[in-house]
Amino acid sequence: MSTRPFAVAIDGPAGAGKSTLAKILARELGFLYMDTGALYRTIGYAVLREGGDPADAAVVEARLPSLDVRLTHEADGQHVWLDGEDVNGEIRTPEVSRAASQVSALPAVRAYLLQLQRDTAASCDVIMDGRDIGTVVLPDAQLKIFLSATPEERARRRYEELRGKGVDTTFEQVLADMQQRDYDDSHRAAAPLKAAEDAVAVNTTGETVEQSVARMKKLVNDRLASCGR
Ligand code: C5P
Repeated sequence: MSTRPFAVAIDGPAGAGKSTLAKILARELGFLYMDTGALYRTIGYAVLREGGDPADAAVVEARLPSLDVRLTHEADGQHVWLDGEDVNGEIRTPEVSRAASQVSALPAVRAYLLQLQRDTAASCDVIMDGRDIGTVVLPDAQLKIFLSATPEERARRRYEELRGKGVDTTFEQVLADMQQRDYDDSHRAAAPLKAAEDAVAVNTTGETVEQSVARMKKLVNDRLASCGR
């Protein structure tokens, strides 16, 4: 019987519900939740804040050696730290979403973040979400889920989330940004967004959060049972 920690890899496009669902599942199952998008966002934010162009590989790569990106897991969830400063609140803007997608296309950035992600999964049971968790970061995860929903539904969720935070935007803008980001994430050469061959597809269109959580929890519990846990 395997004694290594249990890992659930959740991948999928923006707004599919990954972080909302993974957070609840992790709490209910007593697993650690790791939002890997926050890491790419933090690098994009660091470059933007310093006036650099996140699409310029030379600028981003020159910043990597001096970058200090850390994660902590607190009662209210994951916090990401940039050079000793908690930047959790700063990294959720549409501008940083774009920058994250740009820096994430660079192999040097992906390599820089790989070990941190693998070390976390090696130390405890995790639910990790992102774009390449099942394909690249944790190819041996005991359960892989590929989450999706229609673009309109995903944009509506993201629009409501941004409006709730006071961001001034329109549904059309959110939909256009999201489709561009999904296209870029799926068509890049380095670790593109795609379902792992052994991923279970879960489409959350038209479902409540509770319904999706129940479906995913059953997948995790069935897989845990088959691992003798
Ligand atoms: O998940 P989130 O929307 O916060 O991710 C922001 C961006 O970071 C994504 O659009 C994607 O370009 C990148 N990302 C990635 N690989 C991951 C997680 C996020 O390339 N594992």
